[in-house]
This record gives sequence, C-alpha cells and structure tokens, in this order.
Amino acid sequence: MIRKTRLFTPGPTPLLPAAQFAMAAADIHHRTAEFRALYSRVLVQLKEFVGTTAGDIVILSSSGTGAMEAAMSNLTSPGDRVLVLTAGKFGERWSGLAKAFGCPVDVVSAPYGETFSIDEVKAALKPETRCVFMQATETSTGVRHCVPAVAQLLKEQKSEALLVVDAITGLGTTHIDMDAWGVDVLIGGSQKAVMIPPGLAYLAVGPKAWDRMEATYNPRYYFDLRKERKNAKNGESAYTPAVALIAALGAALDWIAAQASTAENPAGSIVEGRKKLVENAETISAMTRSAVLALGLKLFAPDAPGTAATAVLAPEGVDSGIFVKELKSRFAAIITNGQGEMKGQIFRIAHLGFFDYMDTIALIGALEQVVVKSLPQLGAKFGDGLIAAQKVYAERSATAAADRKCLCGREDGHCSLVSSAAK
Ligand SMILES: *Cc1c(COP(=O)(O)O)cnc(C)c1O
Repeated sequence: MIRKTRLFTPGPTPLLPAAQFAMAAADIHHRTAEFRALYSRVLVQLKEFVGTTAGDIVILSSSGTGAMEAAMSNLTSPGDRVLVLTAGKFGERWSGLAKAFGCPVDVVSAPYGETFSIDEVKAALKPETRCVFMQATETSTGVRHCVPAVAQLLKEQKSEALLVVDAITGLGTTHIDMDAWGVDVLIGGSQKAVMIPPGLAYLAVGPKAWDRMEATYNPRYYFDLRKERKNAKNGESAYTPAVALIAALGAALDWIAAQASTAENPAGSIVEGRKKLVENAETISAMTRSAVLALGLKLFAPDAPGTAATAVLAPEGVDSGIFVKELKSRFAAIITNGQGEMKGQIFRIAHLGFFDYMDTIALIGALEQVVVKSLPQLGAKFGDGLIAAQKVYAERSATAAADRKCLCGREDGHCSLVSSAAK
C-alpha cells in the first residue's frame, strides 16, 4: 500500500496549508510599511490568542527555549533565588537555565508521569523567592500541571515572586487565563498548537514582569525583551525577524479565528477559535486515552493527563521503540519515543494543533494493527481501541462544551490536579 507521512509528534506538529501558502508568498523586507502592517497585526492577534489584555507580546526568532532563556535572563540578577517546579525534561530545563544565569535554585520535583502537590510548593516557597518557573503541560511525560493553584498560592502568601509559565504545549490545548490567574509571563512556540514550522517563540509579559526588568541585570543582548517591546510598538523587531514565519503565524491565527466563524461574523474570533482548538485537543486526547486502555496498554500519566500529548507505557519487557518503529515503517505515522531516561519505556502521541477526528481514528486503527500483530500477549483484538474511541467521540459530541466537566472534575472550570496529586 502507499503510505502518507503524518506527524503525530508534539512539536513540530502538522503544518496548516494556509500557513504554508502565506509563508511561500512572504517575500517582504522587514523595514517596510508592508512588514510593519503584518507584524502589528500578528502581535494583536497573538495577544488575543494568548488571552491577555494586561500583558505585551514579544516575538523572538528562536525555538521555544530561546523564550525560556529570555524569561530567565531578563527577570533575574545573579544570586536571585528562584523556585523551579518540575516533573520532566522541560521542567529540568528551567533548572539548567537558572544555574547558567547564576541563580540559586530551589526545586520541587515530582516523579515522571505525576504532578507536584501544592503543599510541597508552599513548603519550598521562601520570602526571598524572586521567580517561580513551571510548565503548563510537561510534554516529555504528557502531564498537565495546575497553574491556577500555583498562582493562587503566590497570591495567598503575598509572595513577590513572578510566576513564569512555559505554555509552549499548553497554549491551544489547555484552558489558560493569564490575567485572571495572575501569571506574569506566559511562553509559546510556533511549532506547537499554532501549526507552523519551528523558528518562532513568543512571550506574553505582564506589568509586574516589565517592572522587574527595570532593576535586573543578568546579561542579555539578542533576547532583550525591553528592546523588543520598544521596537514592536513601531511594528518592527530589533533584528531581522523570521519574516516568512510571521506571515505564516498571521495566516494560522486567521484560520483559528475562522473556526468560530458565524453568519454575522464570517471572520470569526480568535478567542472563540482558540476555545475550539482546546476542545479539539480535549476530545482527541480523551479518544486516544480510552483507545489505549481498551487495547490493554497503560497510560504513563493516569492521574494528571494533559491534552497536548498522551504518553503511553510500553508493556513489561517491551521496548517502546517498537511502537515508534512499526507505526513509521508500516503506516508512515511519526510518533515519539520517551526523552532521556524515559526512552524505551514510553511512546507519545500528540494532539496539539492540526489534528482532527480522521487523523485520530486512523492512528488508533494503525496502533491496533501493531498491538494485535506484535503484542499478542495483550489479548487485544481488532476494533477494541476504535470502539472505545468512537464512544468517547459520540459522547463528547452530544454534550455541549459548557456542560463538560474539566478533566479534573473541579466545578469552577479551573483544572486542579493538586488534590489528586496530594493524595
Ligand atoms: C517544545 C517545548 C519546548 C521548546 O523546545 P524547543 O525545542 O526549544 O522549541 C519547551 N517546553 C515545552 C513544554 C515544549 O513542549
């Protein structure tokens, strides 16, 4: 049979065709009125997508880690004590950055596949903590952390610490309310839910974080956020930006808005479109989780599953690479192995961005082929995974989004995985 290559990876993710066309047509010089109009428009759109009115958006030509580094270097001075909340490879990146910039680090860590408890965070927070760094979703383990609970804790403790959230796979997959929760910096990346190639990172920076930068003095040059903000006010970036990617981002945000198009407002709305994107990831991830369980496999993060990616545990004595290899060789479906020491133990399927019902059903069908043929010890038969996924889809389609409970079951719509993690 012929095979179409399809990415099911948590970044880069499948590209949106409209964004690819925009990219190919972006033969624009960056010091022109044409570019200034594009850049100003994209900055406004991105602000809506992130969902902040208080914060300012900065776009950087780098991968997501560049924005993480910018947050660290711009918000700290050498010797500033910081708190890192980590439960995976991306959380560990925060600790590495803090050390690189001379900041003593307190760490609250949870085992891979779990999230930390808020009591541990409370115990580790010191009066002199200057910043708290965390992920919204830890892509290496498929876990979702509870950002509002941490934000709430900082408020209750009257902490002066800034809350910096790597939402690189959280944005567009998870409900996040930066201003209402009190997140000071929220970070995103282009190769994730916004469906364009790698190469752009962006930050939403709130007023407290801008104030902090007046006094901090860790070294920064290319990633100087205040310089970028100043230039952005005039519709430009400080240095040559990734023009084609910015054009792609504009097209992708138009597309996201159009997902919520109505007769009165055909262009739709980014805020409503983003909600659809989040609901989409919620549905697809729920279909995937239930299919995986029906096939006799186990979830790596059963208590705090995120919607950006699902991490699946390989059965005892089986290398998870077999799933990666067979899905690729037989069906040209690209999934990811575990990172670091999780390699060989788990495999990960992404749900962020341009994935729909058809992609999901196809991947589950292919996964069934692998399980039935190569892992007969699981006792799964054709249809087990698909039936489970079909049921989840039918149930979710029959329930209005507003009536659906948050994954964690908390009534106020905020996710709080804390109680389950604290047990
Ligand atoms: C992808 C990702 C990043 C950024 O990685 P880059 O390779 O630098 O783009 C950071 N944090 C999380 C949670 C991610 O998923």
